[in-house]
Amino acid sequence: MELFVCKFGGSSVASSEKLQHIVHIIQENPRRRCIVLSAPGKAPGCPVKITDLLIDTVNKVLNNEKFDVILNRIKQRFHAIYRQLNLSSDQIDSILKDLDDRFNFSKDHPGRFRDLIVSAGEDLNCRLFALYLISVGINARYINPRDAGMAVTPVFGDAQPLPACAIQMACLKEACAETIVIFPGFFGYTAEGDIATFSRGGSDLTGSLLAEALDAAEYENWTDVDGIFSAHPAMVDAPLQIPALTYKEMRELSYMGFNVLHEEAVKPVMRKKIPIRLRNTNNLTNEGTLIVSERLPSERDVIGVASSSGYCSFTLQKFLMNREKGFGRRLLAIFEDLGLSYEHCPSGVDNISVILNQDQLKSEIVNTIIRTIEEQLQPDEIKSEFGIALVSVVGEGLVHKIGFLAKATSALAKARVNIKMVNQGSSEMSIIFGIDATDEKKAVQALYRDFFNKG
Ligand code: ASP
Repeated sequence: MELFVCKFGGSSVASSEKLQHIVHIIQENPRRRCIVLSAPGKAPGCPVKITDLLIDTVNKVLNNEKFDVILNRIKQRFHAIYRQLNLSSDQIDSILKDLDDRFNFSKDHPGRFRDLIVSAGEDLNCRLFALYLISVGINARYINPRDAGMAVTPVFGDAQPLPACAIQMACLKEACAETIVIFPGFFGYTAEGDIATFSRGGSDLTGSLLAEALDAAEYENWTDVDGIFSAHPAMVDAPLQIPALTYKEMRELSYMGFNVLHEEAVKPVMRKKIPIRLRNTNNLTNEGTLIVSERLPSERDVIGVASSSGYCSFTLQKFLMNREKGFGRRLLAIFEDLGLSYEHCPSGVDNISVILNQDQLKSEIVNTIIRTIEEQLQPDEIKSEFGIALVSVVGEGLVHKIGFLAKATSALAKARVNIKMVNQGSSEMSIIFGIDATDEKKAVQALYRDFFNKG
């Protein structure tokens, strides 16, 4: 059977109405057999996600503070949602009892305790949702990630799936043929039998791992937006929705801050070339955005214009730098030794820049960087600059195009945006411009206007 794995995010499971709507979505297409749920997210009157409430509870427990008020808030939220779906208080309590039991576990390892508690948001939601489906006559079954073989590394709060996942979880194919599988997102089990969660938003990764293991025909990722847009709506008025893009294009856009899907979620489906479709639970008429390995050559080479700010650069000048063997390596090693990761490293004849995310810098470290570079590399000049934005034009179609860079730079020149750096990655999938952060919006609008013939 060609099945779909469908993951519903926190906003799509935040109220009883939303859950009823999911039932409608499941019934609309019989191929929707494996359903992954997040914990309830924000909803009107509920400004805090269940996961955040659980994190608060853990912090209180570990600080020996009283936590019963938050714990009751969590329980009340589940009661409010599932009572309206006609589950009895006793039914709900019998499942929520598991949450109380979790607090009796050892707190000796804070990370392990944290993940045990925090994962309860997804786990309880799925148990209750499966019960609700059964109560309305739908053949459904909650599956625990341990029983399914969701094996992860013991890195609490940032676990990684183990390669065995894909093989072990293939056993769920049978269950999916018989019933609708309800699977909690966000966590797996270590070899020692402990729960370990992925990083935040990790239910996307759960869905992707299941899609891989089940050889799904499609991985539907349901959220509250129509799909991916060709520019950020905060930068450009009513940007076009992208109907289809490739995994690589998606990666380029998410690198520049298009946070639609958890970054690690693309890899498992990419291995088997399973399409991901981003869909909006609140707008079923919209077909969403499809992410695939190859897309049809559309009329557009450029798929999107993205930007992100908060970068800084260190630029060195040194006459005959090119003849000094190992110069680049020694420069980057300085950043590595200081525990800093770099984003780009464009170079010219006698100059080289290192561009970093500014957030990772503490004030004293800038001085240390400059002093160490001066001591170890003796540049003729070194300059640091802050408040840089990166603007990127993305599209697989750029590879074969002549004049594309000229078009982009002339759009920026017309808008009076000064380009400080240009980086055309070797994949030719994107061109990244470094500009002053104050010009970010102007630059995105200018590039969008030119490449999407708007305005
Ligand atoms: N509930 C978790 C979070 O808020 C995981 C998820 O929703 O994907 O990060």
